[in-house]
Amino acid sequence: MEVSNNKVALVTGASRGIGRACAVKLAECGYDVVVNYVSNDAKASEVCAEIEGLGRKAFAAKADTSDLKAVQNMFREVWKEFGRIDVLVNNAGVVDDAYLLMINEESLSRSLDINIKGYFHCAQQAALKMMKTGGKIINVSSVSSILAVEGQGVYSATKGAVNSMTATLAKELAPRNITVNAIAPGFIETEMMDSIPEDKKAEYINAVPMGRFGSAEQIAETVVMLCSSAFDYMTGQVIVLDGGLSL
Ligand code: NAP
Repeated sequence: MEVSNNKVALVTGASRGIGRACAVKLAECGYDVVVNYVSNDAKASEVCAEIEGLGRKAFAAKADTSDLKAVQNMFREVWKEFGRIDVLVNNAGVVDDAYLLMINEESLSRSLDINIKGYFHCAQQAALKMMKTGGKIINVSSVSSILAVEGQGVYSATKGAVNSMTATLAKELAPRNITVNAIAPGFIETEMMDSIPEDKKAEYINAVPMGRFGSAEQIAETVVMLCSSAFDYMTGQVIVLDGGLSL
């Protein structure tokens, strides 16, 4: 594991699940970490305490990533606190499954706003701060971006957008030494999966060639890998971590 002392990482949606695992793993690698979240103060405090327990600085940043003003304000605060940002993990996302005829306007807007606009808001603000120093942007996508899953039309579309923006932003930001890559997880055991009925979960496990769900820590390990200097020349790529689900 490459140690990166005094560097700063901002992880969106870091109070729980994959984001939390990424925040803690980055702290283990020496990063000071900004823990973004939207509502769960208690969980965000827990994550910050864990990071501080590892001897790194933690900064809880409550901001709805779909709200541009809130995101601008968050980056302003982070800049005041640290004066640098080296890594952005765009992770805050929502899933609200519905078959086409059941999709409602409110849920559709919320998914597009958080899963797409939120990623653009944070990438834009991070790129502004990374222009002189370079940096790494890692977008958490989903295997649903490349796999047709009934009931996930909206979610898949948002994650397909994440893959597309990853390629385009990678090209735009390459001259600034800012890499942009994505990770597309398959089924990962987090609260996001709590809403899935047990019989559906069993069906999903059967569909995974490796016969098990992945863990948030495995995604975090991949984030840390992308942050290491070994991956400084890789940009615009989507890494699929799905136990073979998409094969
Ligand atoms: P999760 O357990 O449901 O956690 C979601 C996190 O995002 C929480 O920290 C939540 O904050 C935060 N959040 C939600 N809306 C936000 C907003 N508008 N602004 C800022 N933060 C917001 O999710 P997860 O399972 O870890 O998933 C994380 C990412 O991985 C998502 O992009 C998801 O699409 C992707 N993914 C997950 C799976 C899976 O199987 N779990 C598979 C593929 C891809 P609060 O705690 O404050 O609510």
